[in-house]
Amino acid sequence: MGDSYAIGIDFGGTKVLAGVVNTKTGELVATSKKKTKQASEQQQLLRKLTIVIEEAVEQAGINFDKIKSIGIGVAGMVDRERGILLSGVNIGASNLKIAEPLIDHYGIPVKLGNDVEVATLGEMHFGAGKKCNNLICVFVGTGIGSGIVHDGAIYHGQTGTAGEIGHTILFPDGRLCNCGGHGCLEAYASRMAIARQVVAGIKRGVDTSVAGEIDENKGLLRSRTLSQAVLDGDNLVTRSVIHAAKFLGVGLASVVNFYNPERIILGGGLVEEVGLYFDVAVEELQHRALPIPGAAINVKKAKLGDFAGIIGAAMLAQNSSDN
Ligand SMILES: [Zn+2]
Repeated sequence: MGDSYAIGIDFGGTKVLAGVVNTKTGELVATSKKKTKQASEQQQLLRKLTIVIEEAVEQAGINFDKIKSIGIGVAGMVDRERGILLSGVNIGASNLKIAEPLIDHYGIPVKLGNDVEVATLGEMHFGAGKKCNNLICVFVGTGIGSGIVHDGAIYHGQTGTAGEIGHTILFPDGRLCNCGGHGCLEAYASRMAIARQVVAGIKRGVDTSVAGEIDENKGLLRSRTLSQAVLDGDNLVTRSVIHAAKFLGVGLASVVNFYNPERIILGGGLVEEVGLYFDVAVEELQHRALPIPGAAINVKKAKLGDFAGIIGAAMLAQNSSDN
């Protein structure tokens, strides 16, 4: 019984990260990383992929023939059947054929999924979702995305876009959202929403320790900065974090009422760094959900952190090559 290995790739807007993963244990044996530029030529993007793949295998110190498959999680909308990135705004590419050239080059199965889906797969196999067949993974960052596991498999939906929890509408005439709509959950509960609330406070003349750390044009504040400000008792930041976390709890209560999952896994920088955000969201969820599904729900923090995408991507290909 030898070990089985696959390559998992996290293909994002600023970097591409590859790892050699032991698909039996979930162990990440070696990794390699390259920066990407927006709007690179398609050939250049594919070349970057082959470089990180080969570097990771070399780092792992194993022969390439031990690699059974390649899985790629990409930030954007994908055609899973044909292995095409349909639209990747952050990557600056559309209709990019990814799987086919790599299959031709390496002669092993190559599968494509989106970034939230593969992070969910990682948590399901080796993280906070182990031994759980019905769960929702919610990742909070500048936006909010989620992956749905139904009967032990990722649920994609009719157009492959299921899980857009960030665009659950709370207020029909509410804040403008990045999707162009109004009143979406992520306009109230994301890290961006917290930062915007802090900026609004600063403009009203409220004192805060993070005034110098904020990029007012982008409305951005790092999770670590928020965490430190909460620990230091910064009133404006603490109130903004609580406000956002309550909204996340409201959104999660609707998920619990509607889908009745066994477990909810919360991940992303804000959840990992700011304990208050997680605690308030869980409390609000429990307060708001219907009594029976609410009492049964089990909420956990994600376990794999930044590596969930690589580990999950490796399993994406693994699952397909097993079938
Ligand atoms: Zn929206």
